[in-house]
Amino acid sequence: MRVGILGGGQLARMLAMAAHRIGIEPWIVDPHANAPAGRVAHHILAELDDPEMPGLLSSCDVVTAEMDHAPVGILDAVEHRVPVHPSPAAFAIAGDRFREKRFFADLGAPVAPFHLIEDERSLSRARSAVTCGARLKSRFEGYDGKGQLVVRTPEGLDAAWAELNRVPCVLEEEIDFDRELSLLAVRGGDGEIRFWDPIENHHRNGILRVSATSPADRDTPAGIAARELVSAVLERLGYVGVLAVEFFDVGGHWIVNEMACRVHNSGHATEEGAETSQFENHLRAIVGWPLGGTRSVRPTAMVNLIGSIPDPETVLKIPGARLHLYGKTPAPDRKLGHLIVPESEHAVWLGSGAVDAVRLGSEVSR
Ligand code: ATP
Ligand code: MG
Repeated sequence: MRVGILGGGQLARMLAMAAHRIGIEPWIVDPHANAPAGRVAHHILAELDDPEMPGLLSSCDVVTAEMDHAPVGILDAVEHRVPVHPSPAAFAIAGDRFREKRFFADLGAPVAPFHLIEDERSLSRARSAVTCGARLKSRFEGYDGKGQLVVRTPEGLDAAWAELNRVPCVLEEEIDFDRELSLLAVRGGDGEIRFWDPIENHHRNGILRVSATSPADRDTPAGIAARELVSAVLERLGYVGVLAVEFFDVGGHWIVNEMACRVHNSGHATEEGAETSQFENHLRAIVGWPLGGTRSVRPTAMVNLIGSIPDPETVLKIPGARLHLYGKTPAPDRKLGHLIVPESEHAVWLGSGAVDAVRLGSEVSR
């Protein structure tokens, strides 16, 4: 069985490593010779919008992508030759913040009030929406908080849009949230849906720093409503594979931020903390194999290593810590690896020790 993956970053690398273990041959497409996944997968050196893509991937049994902004036209063309999961239609929604917000709103999900800005008229209409704070986000592209600006005044909106080069944008209300959470699910080829426990996420400067499994959120009214919503998304899209949905918790009420049609940074700890990791279950789903269990087997936290790699001897002293490095060249704000901290003095069930993990995150990712 051969799986083609568009993109060769750390997500593709972890998918490829999981693939080898269960006898799947991973093939990546990435234009960079030193792509992180290149060392653990067959590497097709090509741009992601290469019109030859259907031919390049024709020997694969199924094709997937590791990025939010997969080129939908190319995925459509590939799909004429090889099945693509999740579907190009799902990527088309997740890669367009305006369509994505409308999609969730149409499903009846709570989302921050939003406005599309694409010309002077829509800009002046949106200006009246900026009363006490809003966030301008580029409609397409953008990750790790890039292509986003906080807007505090109506006049500030014009300056912010100019700073984003007047590309199409979505203006959304700034949410004064208590916490950020994500819910990861997998849907198999036969329609079976499984959920991992909710995950609490801590960001700094728009970049995820620390995630911790939060089983306490699983069966609260908000957790149950979130599961129902994610199931509805999966069914509506006829989705196959792992889907991540990010939420803001405001007084126990979860507002949808965005979704990612792929494995997700906040789910990395499933590798140590759940019966089956997000990587393995994504692969099982897209090749049509039975899904693995998603129950938590131990409390886990994940700390992203950003900008520089800490001395392995220091972090590996933490009892039970597992270090995952991506083989990337250090650069400011670049995700270079992560640390999973299972049951140990630093391990966290949320509430008891998340603060420790956050402190650890700020120490090791400075
Ligand atoms: P990523 O790909 O890393 O998930 P992104 O660039 O796609 O990030 P978002 O998830 O929309 O962007 O935003 C990044 C972070 O910025 C959020 O996790 C949250 O901390 C903050 N943020 C985004 N939108 C809002 C909002 N409307 N109100 C308050 N905070 C927000
Ligand atoms: Mg996000």
